[in-house]
Amino acid sequence: MAIKYVPEPFRIKVVEPLRMLTREEREAKIKEANFNVFNLRGEDCYIDLLTDSGTNAMSQNQWGGLMIGDESYAGANSYFKLAEAGKDIFNYGYIQPVHQGRAAEKVVFPILLGKGKYAISNMFFDTTRAHVELAGARAIDCVVEEAKDPGKRAKFKGNMDVVGLEKLINELGPENVGLVVLTVTNNSAGGQPVSIKNMRETSDICKKYNILLDIDSARFAENAYFIKRDEEGYAGKPIKEIVREMFSYADLFTMSAKKDGIVNMGGLIGVKDADTPLLLPIRANCISYEGFFTYGGLNGRDMEALAIGLYESINDDYLAYRIGQMEYIASKLDDAGIVYQSPVGGHGVFIDAQHMFPDLPYYEFPGQTLAIELYKEAGIRCCDIGSYMLGNDPDTGEQLKSQFEFTRLAIPRRVYTQAHFDVVTDALVAIKERAHSIKRGYRITWEPPILRHFQARLAPAE
Ligand SMILES: *Cc1c(COP(=O)(O)O)cnc(C)c1O
Repeated sequence: MAIKYVPEPFRIKVVEPLRMLTREEREAKIKEANFNVFNLRGEDCYIDLLTDSGTNAMSQNQWGGLMIGDESYAGANSYFKLAEAGKDIFNYGYIQPVHQGRAAEKVVFPILLGKGKYAISNMFFDTTRAHVELAGARAIDCVVEEAKDPGKRAKFKGNMDVVGLEKLINELGPENVGLVVLTVTNNSAGGQPVSIKNMRETSDICKKYNILLDIDSARFAENAYFIKRDEEGYAGKPIKEIVREMFSYADLFTMSAKKDGIVNMGGLIGVKDADTPLLLPIRANCISYEGFFTYGGLNGRDMEALAIGLYESINDDYLAYRIGQMEYIASKLDDAGIVYQSPVGGHGVFIDAQHMFPDLPYYEFPGQTLAIELYKEAGIRCCDIGSYMLGNDPDTGEQLKSQFEFTRLAIPRRVYTQAHFDVVTDALVAIKERAHSIKRGYRITWEPPILRHFQARLAPAE
């Protein structure tokens, strides 16, 4: 039985019209797009679940904040407001704005990593991995085993494998590990949370070997909500207190504010100890790559909106509604026997497309096939997180087989309503009913050398 939808803790003041194309039009559009959803125009998508990044709806207070943004080049009021909000929420000594998450990585990682160094994470997000490698170091994932089994219900499937972490540090040599990164929530594992206990244990290991711990904190508020809901001893604690405890275990954070910052563009770097020697090189890199350190690539008005959004994201009613949306969709999928990474995570629903199309081989891309079917069925845009995204072996050029064949429905914050989600789950049920008739997937007709999934062209496999 589907669970009850948590009513929105807001009402709608501004609307953005949507348009549903006919099935014939949708079939023509996806063909014109060479069966790559990134080539579709936004206006041709009825429900756009491509990403939860930068697709958030701002509140009236945030829009009001835009009007009082201070655009001073140096020392803008809006910068101080953002820095104060960051210091207050995370209890950190230094807050550096940057234009988005990968900018934080580009500024920080070269200071701590270089040739011969390693960075270890519960699971690296793709740009985070790229910036570790651009800094000359190697990136290693070390997530708990249960993260790899979509059907297995377990709490905190995003956790670091702490036994594995200590073993890796000893094998590589502690002096060669430049950084440990905890991604919260664990995006690549399906928005799965990391427990406070796991953060504490990871922190203890880092301290023992004198290695800095960075929280890749795009979805820090959603993670705190899961701790409050599922971890013993946290049910009665305010979210802000949980957030402060989470961040107390790390030395620094890098953040894409396009997620839980509830803005459309922005990022942050935080350093716990304001007297650290890290401060100077962070500011220096920021000035080179992003802009003077009191704006870091953001407009004054953007910093104003982010200062407000950070507080809105740690509101209990908002988080109950937000995670409630995921649970609502998941419960309807349970009713229909559709398998997803479960229990459902914080920012989306990752459908097990291989389970939907058991006979489709990985090299015909089950996750991409389901994404295309969803667009044809109801104008829903979402993406593959599977072999299509993974790409080819760099040495042999052979298609790699992913551990999962997911189709990701990422849910933008405060954007879609219960009725929209009913359209999505109805479409999935309709596709499941005719899944046996979908015997072939897609093949690639052209691909660029790296990050191919954004640009590749596909055609139906024959
Ligand atoms: C989105 C994201 C990033 C990169 O941030 P951008 O704002 O897209 O540059 C880094 N890490 C995680 C976990 C993310 O989700």
